[in-house]
Amino acid sequence: MNKGKKLYEGKAKIIYETSEKGLVVQHFKDDATAFNNLKKANVEGKGVLNNRISEHILSNISQCGIKTHLVKRLNMREQLIKHAEIFPLEFIVRNIATGSLSKRLGIADGTILEEPLFEYCLKDDDLGDPLIAKEHIYAFGWAKEDEIKEIDKMTFRINDILQGMFRGVGIKLVDFKLEYGKVWNKDKQEIVLADEISPDTCRLWDIKSERKLDKDRFRKDLGNIVQAYQEVARRLGIMPEETNISEVKEFAKTTSIKFKKK
Ligand code: UDP
Repeated sequence: MNKGKKLYEGKAKIIYETSEKGLVVQHFKDDATAFNNLKKANVEGKGVLNNRISEHILSNISQCGIKTHLVKRLNMREQLIKHAEIFPLEFIVRNIATGSLSKRLGIADGTILEEPLFEYCLKDDDLGDPLIAKEHIYAFGWAKEDEIKEIDKMTFRINDILQGMFRGVGIKLVDFKLEYGKVWNKDKQEIVLADEISPDTCRLWDIKSERKLDKDRFRKDLGNIVQAYQEVARRLGIMPEETNISEVKEFAKTTSIKFKKK
């Protein structure tokens, strides 16, 4: 299998074509962006950690019977994935109020929600990924009603799986964003979980101290971004205890860092 030309470059990832039909390579960059691209930086080692964390999480989800685009991790920065036709939507799940929800509706930061709250946004950087209602999705044909029903069911289960996985390692899953797409399986299309699940796309708070272990460290200039992502990897058991930050950073230049084999 050979990596071919670049098909698409996003803010944190690049997609390359491959010689195999229906498969592409997803490459994780070190670039961090926030506030619709207004804030940008290079966070050395972030791509390596997100690649590994996302592989671990998607593999676990898949073991629970939920279809994902992940085929396998290829190396420290890349995964082989199914080329999905992505719905132009972001599916946000909230267990605790914070971020744009608190700002928009004046809900106190940290309020525990009785039930997970699902929100839908249009994936459109020029418009700032606006919040939309389900009715907009159907009115403009961004997805069909039965597709959203299926996605909601998958999202609900994923939230349960992730909450359990993180709770077990002393982390609160505050909120997160998912993306879905459609892939061909023989002669029919099926919905798969796509994109990534990582500290870039989730809010993760330490259960005891509520210390932020996610991209809010970048958004809010809290510092120690890679250390926080590394802490998540370590707690999930995918990084040897003795690995230190300089080894992660060093990998950005070389290929010396070790991850635990599954
Ligand atoms: N999120 C994301 N990508 C986006 C928008 C949101 O991964 O383009 C994630 C974000 O990291 C958080 C959750 O979705 O875990 C809810 O984000 P919120 O709307 O509060 O984002 P904010 O506007 O505060 O960044």
